Amino acid sequence: MNISKSGQITIKGIGGSPGICIGKAYIVDKEGVNIIKRYPVSEPLVPKEIDRFKQAVSKAKNDHARVIESLDEDLGENLNILETHMVLFKDKMLYGKTIDTISRERINAEWALKKVSREVRAMFQQIDDKYLQARVIDIVQVSDKIMSYLVGAQDIKISDINKRVIIVAHDLSPADASQIQLEHIKGFVTDRGGKDSHTSIIAKSLKIPSVLGLGSATVSVKNDDILIVDGSSGTLIINPEEDTLFKYEERLARFEEYRAGLERQSHLPAVTKDGISLNLMANIELVEEVVAAKDHGATDVGLFRTEFLYLDLKRFPTEDELLYKYKELVELMNPQSVTIRTLDINGDKVNPYLTTIEEANPSLGLRAVRFCLENEDIFITQLKAILRAAAFGNIKLLIPMISCVEEIIQVKKVINKAILELEEEDKIFNKDIPLGVMIEVPSAVMIAESLAEHVDFFSIGTNDLIQYSMAIDRRNRQVAHLYQALNPAVLKMIKMTYDAAMKKGIDLVMCGEMAGDPMNMPVLVGIGLTEFSMNSASIPVVKKMIRDLDTKKAKKTLKKIMTLNTVHEILSFIFEEYKDILPFRETDESL
Ligand code: PEP
Ligand code: MG
Repeated sequence: MNISKSGQITIKGIGGSPGICIGKAYIVDKEGVNIIKRYPVSEPLVPKEIDRFKQAVSKAKNDHARVIESLDEDLGENLNILETHMVLFKDKMLYGKTIDTISRERINAEWALKKVSREVRAMFQQIDDKYLQARVIDIVQVSDKIMSYLVGAQDIKISDINKRVIIVAHDLSPADASQIQLEHIKGFVTDRGGKDSHTSIIAKSLKIPSVLGLGSATVSVKNDDILIVDGSSGTLIINPEEDTLFKYEERLARFEEYRAGLERQSHLPAVTKDGISLNLMANIELVEEVVAAKDHGATDVGLFRTEFLYLDLKRFPTEDELLYKYKELVELMNPQSVTIRTLDINGDKVNPYLTTIEEANPSLGLRAVRFCLENEDIFITQLKAILRAAAFGNIKLLIPMISCVEEIIQVKKVINKAILELEEEDKIFNKDIPLGVMIEVPSAVMIAESLAEHVDFFSIGTNDLIQYSMAIDRRNRQVAHLYQALNPAVLKMIKMTYDAAMKKGIDLVMCGEMAGDPMNMPVLVGIGLTEFSMNSASIPVVKKMIRDLDTKKAKKTLKKIMTLNTVHEILSFIFEEYKDILPFRETDESL
C-alpha cells in the first residue's frame, strides 16, 4: 500500500477483469457474519446479553414480516418457506437454546447462536429423511439473519443497489457477482479472491473492471470515497489526486476506444494468416449471455456452466425447470452447438442452500461429478433435462472434474438409467449426443488415452488444471503469483492431452481462461489446438491475434518454448518473437 502526502492511497491486488472505472465507493460488507469472536460475559451482565439477543431476533423478525407483506400473492412455495422462517425465529431449538447457552456458559450472544445453530444443523443432518434434512437450509438462513443484526451488518442485497457505484466487499461469491445489475454497478473490488476465480470470470463476462485479492480494501475505503479501479493492472486508487484522476480519465477513454475498435472486427472469421480456420466459442453461465456471445463473434457455446441456475434458485431445480432453460438455449443457438456441462458445485461455487457439508479443502472435496455421483437423484434429474433438450437442437454433454476411469464408467451407467426412465415415461428425447470429459485434474492428463476410450471429446479446463497442477487455490491471493498458465508443467500437460486425443482420434477443445489471453495463442496454436471456448468478452482480442498469427511459425517457436525452464523465459521469448502482432496489453500505460 502506498499513501501520498495528499492522502491518495494506492493498493495493488490481482486484476479480476480488465478495464478502468471511476466512481464512488459502496461498501457491502465488512468482515461479514463469518468472523465471530467468542468472549466471556460476567454474571451480572448475562441478562443484558440475553436482551441484546432478543432485540436482534425481534428486529430480524420484523424485517422478515415486512418482506412477506411486500410479496406478490403468486409466490407459492417461496411464501411457505418464508412463513416457516417466521416460526423458526422463536422456535425453542434455536431461540430457547441460544438463550440457555448464553446464561449457562456465560458467553456472548454471537458465539452462543453460532454454537447452537451448528448443533441443530448437525442434528438434522443425522436424520434419514430428505425433507427434514432440507430444513437445515431454513435454520442457516434464520440464524444468519439474526446474526447480521447482532454484529450490526444487516444484509445488503447486491441486486437492490440502485446507485451508480463501485462495490467494495471483503469477498463476493460467484452467486453474489451474478446478481450485479449492470446499469448500477461500475465495477468491484474485494479483499479476497484470486486470478480466474469464478467471481473474476463473471466480472469478465459482465465487462466490468474488478480488482481482487486486495487484502484490506474494506478497511481503507469509506463509503462515498472516490475510487479508481484499474482491473487491467490490478490497482485500486482511493481518493485520487487531481493529476491521477485526469490521467485515468484519459486512459479510460482510450481503453473504451480500443475495445470498440476490436469489437467492430469481431465478426471477421478466425482464420490465421496462413489460412487455417480455428473455432472460437463462448463460455456462458446464463442463457441471457447468448446475445453478447453472438455479438462478440462466438460460433457456438463451448461451455455452459449450469451451476448458476441452481445457485440463483437457492434450491435444486426440477427437471422441467431445467428443460425449459436448456431448450431455450439450444433453440437460440440452433444449428450451432451448445456444450452443456453437468453440475459443478462445491469448490468455490458453494452455496449453503444447496449443500450443507463443511469441508476443510472444498476444492479437493465432494465437488462436481463427485457430488453428482453421490447424489444420483440430482444428477439424473439434470441428465434427463439435457437429453430432453437435445431433441430441440445440437447438444454436447460434458462431465467436469473426472479424475479416474471408474468415474466415467459410473457416469455412463447413470446416463443409461436416465435414458431408461425417459423411455418408461414416454418422453421425447435424444440420446445420440457426444459425451466429453473436462481434463482439469492432473490424473486425467496422465490417463488421457484410457479416458479417450470412453468418450467422444476432451475439453481442457485450464482454470482448474493450473490450480491442481501447481497446488494453489485459485481464490487465494497469497499464491496468485504461482497461477501460471505458461508454466512449463502446464504446457507439458496440455501437450500430453493433445497427443492422447490425436492418437485416439477424438475431438479436443480448450475451455479454460487460458484460451482467452492472446499472449497464449502462439503456444496453443503451436501445439495444434484448433477449438477454443472462452469468456465471450475475450473473443475479439483473441480473434485479432489469431488473424495475425502464422501457424507454421507458431509450430516452430513451440519447439523452442518447450525447451525453456521458467515461465519468465517463456513470456520474454513470446514477447520478443511476437511483439509485432501482440495486441496492446490492456495493462499498458500507453493505452
Ligand atoms: C476450468 O476449470 O478451466 C473450467 C473451464 O471450469 P471452471 O472455471 O468452471 O472450473
Ligand atoms: Mg473447472
